[in-house]
Amino acid sequence: MNSDKLSARLAAVAKYVPKGAKIADIGSDHAYLPCYLAKNIGITFALAGEVAVGPYQSAKSNVLAEGLSDIISVRLGDGLDVVRPGEIEYVTIAGMGGALITSILERGKDKLSHVKRLILQPNVSAISIRKWLIDNNWELMAEEILEEDGKIYEVLVGEKGNSPLTPYGRHLEAELLVGPYLAKEQNAVFKKKWLMEVKNWQRIYQQLENAAQTPDTMKKKQELIHKIHLVEGVLQNEES
Ligand code: SAM
Repeated sequence: MNSDKLSARLAAVAKYVPKGAKIADIGSDHAYLPCYLAKNIGITFALAGEVAVGPYQSAKSNVLAEGLSDIISVRLGDGLDVVRPGEIEYVTIAGMGGALITSILERGKDKLSHVKRLILQPNVSAISIRKWLIDNNWELMAEEILEEDGKIYEVLVGEKGNSPLTPYGRHLEAELLVGPYLAKEQNAVFKKKWLMEVKNWQRIYQQLENAAQTPDTMKKKQELIHKIHLVEGVLQNEES
């Protein structure tokens, strides 16, 4: 991967950034995404934010080498701290866990007042992002799921000023877990992911079944059964 040829995962994020956009890419690492967007999509401004010095330096030298310093500002700092008021309208955060992404959004809420769209790519725990979007009045507008190099990734797109429960149906708990749009579509990657999760939960359940039955074990077993039923319900729904 480089800034001319993005990974399929980052290309799925890039798809939701329009021409002319002003973006912040938080946790930018090498800054491949903002460089790609500047060269291929015609964004007018990007801020590449990094909390770690090594990736920050790598972003800085890539942006310089690409001759993109007029468009891309590379800044060292935690989460949305690097954003100045009114500077950006799009935020991308990719390649981290869902809990870390939501903690960055939560801590930087005051920097989101001019932001129209969040494009988030959690490696795990997309559920925490779906819940955060609802709690903070952002509507989930689109979702993607894809497999690359044996790993499965999700991309979630939220927009402000809409109604946060619109995409969800009668099975809110299950849809928060698996994604309302993804559950409707149920493509092959979605089925693969959730069949693997169910298998894994069944294996853990079996291990707990063979262990001493403490209140803690019983509680964990109940939680696993609940999740298995939720996901099986979604997968069966498609077949009916
Ligand atoms: N976004 C790139 C991608 O998807 O390929 C890089 C992902 S890399 C796995 C995660 C990056 O996020 C690391 O470079 C890390 O230093 C940075 N990061 C983690 N927490 C951060 C935070 N609170 N603020 C800014 N950057 C952060």
